[in-house]
Amino acid sequence: MNPYDFVRIDWKRPPERREPVWHHKVVGTDTALYAGSLEVEVEALTPFFISDPRNVSPDPKRPAQFIHNVAQRAGNPVTYIIPGSSLKGLLRSVVETLGNGCLTLYDGTYERNKINYRQKVPTAFQHCDSRTEMCIACRIFGMLKERTRGVFLGKVNILSVDGPIRNGGVTNRYIEPLDYGTKFHFRVDFTNLEADEFAALLLAVTLTPEMHHKLGYGKPLGLGSVQLTPTSLTLVDYKTRYRQIGSNRGKTVLDGESLQQLRDELVNAFNQKQLVLIAIQDLQRIWQWPPEPDVDYYYPSKRDWFDTQESIGKRIADTRNVPW
Ligand SMILES: [Zn+2]
Repeated sequence: MNPYDFVRIDWKRPPERREPVWHHKVVGTDTALYAGSLEVEVEALTPFFISDPRNVSPDPKRPAQFIHNVAQRAGNPVTYIIPGSSLKGLLRSVVETLGNGCLTLYDGTYERNKINYRQKVPTAFQHCDSRTEMCIACRIFGMLKERTRGVFLGKVNILSVDGPIRNGGVTNRYIEPLDYGTKFHFRVDFTNLEADEFAALLLAVTLTPEMHHKLGYGKPLGLGSVQLTPTSLTLVDYKTRYRQIGSNRGKTVLDGESLQQLRDELVNAFNQKQLVLIAIQDLQRIWQWPPEPDVDYYYPSKRDWFDTQESIGKRIADTRNVPW
């Protein structure tokens, strides 16, 4: 993975914004809203590492630990965890990128309050700040804005269900990543998702077969490739849920082929209308799996390299022979 690589923005297509739909607002209409939960397995394809902010050793020689839960009582096993917030952040950034979301990163002042990035972003692409006009990423994952009236908690919640029991990982001097093959499970609970929102969520989880997510630290070093596989989808139909007694109460469980079929139907419709083509092309290159063999990426040793006449403003591919 090239640490200097970026996904392009299609400046001709600003985010499409609308008010988030809820059941109580669509009574009597035919708008299908999806509610339920999706079980997902995470498998590490390379060693990967997420640090534990509560467990940072002041001794730089002691390796940093992968985040794990704290055993409540002596004798209870300690298990590694991927925080739900990390998974939510990962899926949100995929939806923002592929589904034409607003630019949440360039929203505010940076570099000791010297630069206001919000003003540098064209208005049509700025971070949503109204509850009645929200992009697809803010409708799904929520929008928390201090300076405006806009607080919306979103329609999904991600629970880290379980991870492996602690038994040591691959150790180097500074961090203790978990080895490839390590598996975790998480669950995405969702409610009131419109078809395109549900499709964007499914696409963010499944991507395309030639690419896999990157999660955690050390991505330029080749760490953090993970494969997300949905194992089971439970859909709840609230229209029938309270009318049926003693039956499945409006619940439908899909897995294997039936899950894949629904995913393909929804995602294909989404891809035709809403997918940002240049974004998926770029992300496929960056998250390509398996990675290109025999290619090493590394940072130039001196910061000056970025400012030399041969490097400044150039595409990475065109700087291959610039000495540093
Ligand atoms: Zn937004």
